[in-house]
Amino acid sequence: MNIAEIFDKMDYGPAPEADAEAQTWLKRHEGGFPLFIGGEWQAAQSGESFETIDPATGKVLARVAHGGAADVDRAVKAARQALGPWQEIGGAGRARHLYALARMVQRHSRLFAVVESLDNGKPIRETRDIDIPLAARHFYHHAGWARLQETEFAAYDPIGVVGQIVPWNFPLLMLAWKIAPAIALGNTVVLKPAEYTPLTALLFAELSRQTGLPPGVVNIVTGPGETGAALVAHSDVDKIAFTGSTEVGRFIRDKTAGTGKALTLELGGKSAFIVFDDADLDGAVEGVVDAIWFNQGQVCCAGSRLIVQESIAAQFIAKLKRRMETLRIGSPLDKAVDMGAIVSPQQLARIEALVAKGREEGGELWQPSWAVPKQGCFYPPSLFTNVQPSSIVAREEIFGPVLVTHTFRTPDEAVQLANNSRYGLAASVWSETIGLALDVAPQLKCGVVWVNSTNLFDASVGFGGYRESGFGREGGREGAFEYLKPKAWKKQAIPRKVKPPKRPPAPPEVDRTAKLYIGGKQARPDGGYSLEVRNPAGHLIGETGDGNRKDIRDAVEAARKAEGWSAASQHTRAQILYYVAENLSVRRDEFMQRIVDQCSVSRGDAKREVETAIDRLFAYGAWADKFEGRIHAPPIRGLALAVHEPMGVIGIVCADDYPLLGFVSTMAPAIAMGNRIVVVPSETSPLSATDFYQVLETSDVPAGVVNIVSGRRAALAKTLAGHADVDAMWHFADREGCEITERESVSNLKRTFVGHGRAIDWLDPAAGEGEIFLRQAVQVKNIWIPYGE
Ligand code: NAP
Ligand code: MG
Repeated sequence: MNIAEIFDKMDYGPAPEADAEAQTWLKRHEGGFPLFIGGEWQAAQSGESFETIDPATGKVLARVAHGGAADVDRAVKAARQALGPWQEIGGAGRARHLYALARMVQRHSRLFAVVESLDNGKPIRETRDIDIPLAARHFYHHAGWARLQETEFAAYDPIGVVGQIVPWNFPLLMLAWKIAPAIALGNTVVLKPAEYTPLTALLFAELSRQTGLPPGVVNIVTGPGETGAALVAHSDVDKIAFTGSTEVGRFIRDKTAGTGKALTLELGGKSAFIVFDDADLDGAVEGVVDAIWFNQGQVCCAGSRLIVQESIAAQFIAKLKRRMETLRIGSPLDKAVDMGAIVSPQQLARIEALVAKGREEGGELWQPSWAVPKQGCFYPPSLFTNVQPSSIVAREEIFGPVLVTHTFRTPDEAVQLANNSRYGLAASVWSETIGLALDVAPQLKCGVVWVNSTNLFDASVGFGGYRESGFGREGGREGAFEYLKPKAWKKQAIPRKVKPPKRPPAPPEVDRTAKLYIGGKQARPDGGYSLEVRNPAGHLIGETGDGNRKDIRDAVEAARKAEGWSAASQHTRAQILYYVAENLSVRRDEFMQRIVDQCSVSRGDAKREVETAIDRLFAYGAWADKFEGRIHAPPIRGLALAVHEPMGVIGIVCADDYPLLGFVSTMAPAIAMGNRIVVVPSETSPLSATDFYQVLETSDVPAGVVNIVSGRRAALAKTLAGHADVDAMWHFADREGCEITERESVSNLKRTFVGHGRAIDWLDPAAGEGEIFLRQAVQVKNIWIPYGE
C-alpha cells in the first residue's frame, strides 16, 4: 500500500503494543508461580497447579499454584501475625507504605497493563488508560485515609484479618479496590484472585516486596472457587469482602451467617441506560459504546439495558448501528482496537447460549456486518430489539457485549422499566434538561447514577449496589467504614441489676391485653392468641398479642405502603421525632413504672432508661436533617453527589433488656432517615413497646411508618428476615436469632446489621447512638454529574 492509498482508505494499520517485557517476566516464572504467603513464595501443599491462558490466542501464559485449605490456613496465620505490628506503625506509617505501592504500580504501569491484557483479553487501551491508573489512584487515595485515620475515624478500630475474593473482569483494579482500603485502615489481607486472571496479582505481590511492605500484610492465594470457599470457611478470618456473581455471593452469605464475620458483597447487575428525547444523541451513542462494549461488556455495572424514549428510538437505534459498524475488534495488544477477547471459552459459550435464548424468545438480534477473528475467544457487539422486559436476556446478566433495548413514553415509565430488575448496581441518565435528570436519579434503585456519562469510577467515590447487587461500598469515605468496627462495641454491657419487688406488682386490668400495631391501628393478632408477660419473679404483669407470619406480612405491607415517609422532608421527620420525644416525656412516670414492673429493676435504673430514651429521640430528631451526604470531587470536570437514601423497609428485632431504650434506640435512627419499620419488641418485656402506640398516635407519626408485632421472637424474626419486601434487617437479641437473620437474608440479599448476641450498652451514647446506627439506616447513592461543554 502506498501513501496515497492509505490516505484514500484511512484504514487503521496494526499498532501493536510490545510485549517483550511481559514475556521476559513470564519466562522468568516458567517453572510456575507459587503462592505469596508471609512475604515468601511458598509452594501449594498439594503440589498442584493450573494453567492461565491468553484468551485471544489460546496460548498458555503460565502455571499457577492451586492453593488448598491448608495453604489458606497458612496465609491466614501469616496475616494474623502481621496484624499487630501493622496496626502499631499507625496511620502515618501505613500511609507511607501505600504511597510506595501506588508509586510502584505507576512505575511498572506498562508491564501491568500488558500482562493484564494478555491474561484477560481486554484491550491495552483500557488496561493502560483505565485499569492500571485507577489501581494506582486507589493506593494514593487510601494512603490519605491511612494518614487521616486517627482523627477521621477516631471512634473505630480496624476489623482484623480480611479474606478478599475478586473476579476476572478487572483483576488488578479489583485487587486495588480491595487491598488499598483494607490495609490502609490497619487490616491485613488474604486475597484470592480469579482463576482465569491471577497474573497481575502475582506481579503485584512480587513488586510489593520490593517496596518493603511488611511480610504477611498482603497474602495472595491463587486457585479456583474452592480456594475461595476455604477462605470463607476459615474460622480466623474476621471479614469477607467479595466481588463476583450474585450466585456465589448468596453462597458466601449463607456460609458466613452466624459466624460473626463481617461481609460486603459487590455482585452482578443489569444496569439501565436511559435516553430521553432531549439528550445529545451523538453523545449518548458514544455513551452506549462505553456502557456495554467497554471490556467486552464484562462489566458488573455495564449499561446492558438501553431504555430509550419512543419518539427518538428509531433514530437512536439507526445511529447506534452505524456506530457499531465502525467498532474495531482484534488483538488486545493492538492499541487501536475497541474490543478485545472474551475472557475464556466458557464465558464465550455462556454468552452464545444466552443470545440464542434471546432469539428463541423473539428478540431481534443485530450485529455489524464484519466478522470477528476466527482464532481466540471473540464475540461481536450485539444489539437486541423487540425484547420483552420479562425475557431472559432482559433479566439475566449476560456479562458480554450484548445490549437489549426497550422504549418508554414518560419519565415514570422509564423509571419503572429501569427498576424492573432484581439487581440495582448502576444506571445512566441522558438528558440535556438537568432538572429532569436530577429528578429521575433519586428514583432509580441503584448505588450509582451517571448523568450524561457512564462507567466513571474513582477512588474517592463509593461504588456498590442496592438489592441483589449486594451491600457495602468500595471507595471513598463510605467505603472506609466497611473495614472498620466501632470501638464502643468492644466491651459488653454489664447486665442490669435485678431487684425483686417487695410486693408483687398490681395485677393487670382484665381488658388490657396489648394488641399489635399495624398500619397505624391497633390490631388483634391473626391467630387470636395472646402471651403472658411476667416479671423475673414470675408475677403476671400483663398480656400481649402473639403475632404470627400473617401479622408480619400485614405489617410489611403497611410499611411498604407508607412510602410517603421516605419522601417526606428531613425537616418534617425531625419535627415528628421531637414531638414523639415530648409526648414520651409527658408520660415518663407511667413508662418508668412499666419498666420497674416488667424488669424488676430499681426506680432509679428505670428512670435513667426513660430519660435516656427521651434524650435519644431528641438526638435523632437533631440528626434527621443533619446526617447528610457529601460531595465528592473526583478528578473530572464535575462532581459526584454521595446521597444518603433510606434503605426502605427495615425489620428490627429488639434486645430483651432495656425494653424501652432498646426499642427507641433502633426505631429512632431508622425512621429519622426515612425508613419504615416493622419492630419485634423485647420478648420478655414487650409492654414498653406496646405502650408506645399511644405516643406514636399522638405524635403525628404517619400510619405504617412504625409497625410493632409482639410475640415469639424467633419465629417472627425468621419470617421478617426471609421476607422479600424487607430491604434490611437489624437484630440485637440472641446470637441464634442473629444467625438465622443472616441466613434468611439470603433470599433477597438484604443488608443485615446484627449484634451477634453482644449486649450493647444502650445507656452509653458512644455504643447505642449516632453514626453507627445512622449509617445502617441509609445506603449511599453516588450521582455523577460531569459538566462543561
Ligand atoms: P464468580 O464466579 O462469582 O467468581 C468471583 C470470584 O469468586 C472468583 O475468584 C471465583 O473463583 C470465586 N469463587 C467461585 N466460587 C466460589 C465459592 N464457592 N466460594 C468462594 N469463592 C468462589 O464471578 P465471575 O464469573 O468470576 O465474575 C463475574 C461476576 O462478577 C459478574 O456477576 C459481575 O457482575 C460481578 N462483578 C461485580 C462487580 C461489582 O463491583 N459489583 C465487579 C466486577 C464483577 P474462580 O475464578 O476460580 O471461579
Ligand atoms: Mg487468563
